[in-house]
Amino acid sequence: MPTFDYTCRACPCEFEAWVRKREEMPACPECGASDVERMLSVPNVHSDGTRARSMRAARRRDDRQQMENMHTRLEYEANHD
Ligand SMILES: [Zn+2]
Repeated sequence: MPTFDYTCRACPCEFEAWVRKREEMPACPECGASDVERMLSVPNVHSDGTRARSMRAARRRDDRQQMENMHTRLEYEANHD
């Protein structure tokens, strides 16, 4: 189910809503107006952000694994030389 960000034309609020169809326009949670506008510039910004975050986390895990491998090798060389 896609998530979109909306701005309300009746009040200055911005909100995120899940809709079943792209054409579906949710009502503003602040004032209840249905006169809302989808922010096309940042569709699904939250799921993209989550994906980027998990990729960064995976890279950090790889870095740590490499550090541990190197440490293990250095210890091995120190003890077996
Ligand atoms: Zn509103």
